[in-house]
Amino acid sequence: MPRFECAVCGTSFSSGDELANHIKSAHGSATTAPTFECSICNQMFNDEASLVSHMSGAHPKS
Ligand SMILES: [Zn+2]
Ligand SMILES: [Zn+2]
Repeated sequence: MPRFECAVCGTSFSSGDELANHIKSAHGSATTAPTFECSICNQMFNDEASLVSHMSGAHPKS
């Protein structure tokens, strides 16, 4: 099961929807950090570098 971790407070959720709802309710619109989502496993990251690192580690190109 992939985990979805809030980039702001580190709380983990079982789905991207729960994470999105958490960010909206707990951190509100003040959160300006963009969200980058892995197109393969839908894990979300708060910056592009983390997503790129995830892609190379979790989904290496053959
Ligand atoms: Zn949070
Ligand atoms: Zn992924």
